[in-house]
Amino acid sequence: MNQLDELSRTLIFEGRRLEPVSLEHNIVGFCSKCDMDLESLAYHTTESNWLVCAHCKNEHLILMRYDRQWNWQGDYDLEICKEKVNVSSIAKEKLEAVFTQAEIRDMLACQQGLPYTRQNLYRARAKYEKFETLFGIKIDV
Ligand SMILES: [Zn+2]
Repeated sequence: MNQLDELSRTLIFEGRRLEPVSLEHNIVGFCSKCDMDLESLAYHTTESNWLVCAHCKNEHLILMRYDRQWNWQGDYDLEICKEKVNVSSIAKEKLEAVFTQAEIRDMLACQQGLPYTRQNLYRARAKYEKFETLFGIKIDV
């Protein structure tokens, strides 16, 4: 399934990560499911294609593929996703303001697929909301 990140509008298309080249909102056609107008959410490019992510008012999502001359090539399924924050990319000072060393260690271990102590992770999870309030970063491990 092709995924569009809710915040960054990065597109995961056939396993590739594509940064948006435009976030223009244009009417780009009609929804094949409900006939409402389709509005673009983001535009992406590859070497040979334009990719347009669009949705209708009923939240049907679609990914339209065009060649470089804007000839339509096909429609694809699309879903909106929320990229998980990589804990290792968060400044240590911020983590340490809320979490203990053991909690930080086990959040990292869990995200990296390594063994961790469940209790530490449970304790850390109870603080995610506080962390989000303080730093505006939503952790989801
Ligand atoms: Zn629709």
